[in-house]
Amino acid sequence: MSLAQGDEAVQATNDDAANCKRSAVHLGYWSDPYLSYFVRGPIVKKAPEINRGYFARTYGVYKLVLNALNTLGEIDGSLEPASVQLINLGCGFDTLYWRLNEERNKFSNRVKIKAFVDVDFPSTTLKKVHYVKNTKELLSGIANEDGDIVRSQSELHAFDYHIIGLDLRDVTQLETKLASCGIRYDVPTIFVSECVLVYLESKSSESLLSWLSQKFNTAVFINYEQINMTDNFANVMLKNLVLRGCHLSGVDHCKTIESQVNRFVETGWTGAYGWTMNEVYAAIPTSEIHRIERIEMLDEQELLRQLFDHYCITVAYKGYWKIPRPYISK
Ligand code: SAM
Repeated sequence: MSLAQGDEAVQATNDDAANCKRSAVHLGYWSDPYLSYFVRGPIVKKAPEINRGYFARTYGVYKLVLNALNTLGEIDGSLEPASVQLINLGCGFDTLYWRLNEERNKFSNRVKIKAFVDVDFPSTTLKKVHYVKNTKELLSGIANEDGDIVRSQSELHAFDYHIIGLDLRDVTQLETKLASCGIRYDVPTIFVSECVLVYLESKSSESLLSWLSQKFNTAVFINYEQINMTDNFANVMLKNLVLRGCHLSGVDHCKTIESQVNRFVETGWTGAYGWTMNEVYAAIPTSEIHRIERIEMLDEQELLRQLFDHYCITVAYKGYWKIPRPYISK
């Protein structure tokens, strides 16, 4: 499939996300010792509301991944740890694999991550593979006992970690490449997509979500995305993106939390819940909020509230892995 106009600008959103995360990590919003291996050069300090926004996004998605792992461990019931696969769609330079690695001992007696797959455009995975293969701190996290790592320019296959490059609008290629990672449809699978689906035309995101729900017997999908993109505040956000050549193709279909939920149900997922980022922020433990609110002064509380109103996290589920409703709680 040839790259449509604007794809380069969409890929550049990864640089933006990675730089924003790096700004927040540098100030101590959260710890991510791996990010600076992917984002080099001087740190560009972002505005306090951007740093807090990225903190809430990273905290929320990570907490939901941990919750999904723990929930699976509880319902599996067998004495052996339950197997799970994790697929990060539109991963960019996200360091989730390495961050989770650090915490494996917290859930490894109940859940074992059999395969973790990072997926993005080949032009992005090419850079990710390059940084991984040239950084011993990243390599040591993925090497198995015999250290066997197979890679091409834009793909990498290690013991339980894979990077594959493809266009998510092409599910046939996704199927072929997931097979090359040994992904099985009968193993419970967590999908993460952080600020990705909004860049796909609704037809493409629907085919992707339908294909996933048809193929995978038991799955959880954690999706961070824009909502309420019709008011004046959103117009300014959109204008900024358009000026950078980037079009949010799927924005018409993620107007509200309800439309987010419906999109999953209509594409074959059993059910879904969604939270605005104001709700996610309110559910973060008070001690953590006190800690991060001391990092920088934020005069414009209202601006942050409005920003949080324009993003949400939705969790969809399929199969026996039903997520309890109060999934985000202190
Ligand atoms: N998820 C990462 C994070 O939160 O740090 C990156 C987010 S960035 C805003 C969006 C990512 O989605 C980019 O890396 C982009 O290349 C990827 N993406 C968007 N459309 C895609 C497509 N059709 N196929 C593959 N990747 C895509």
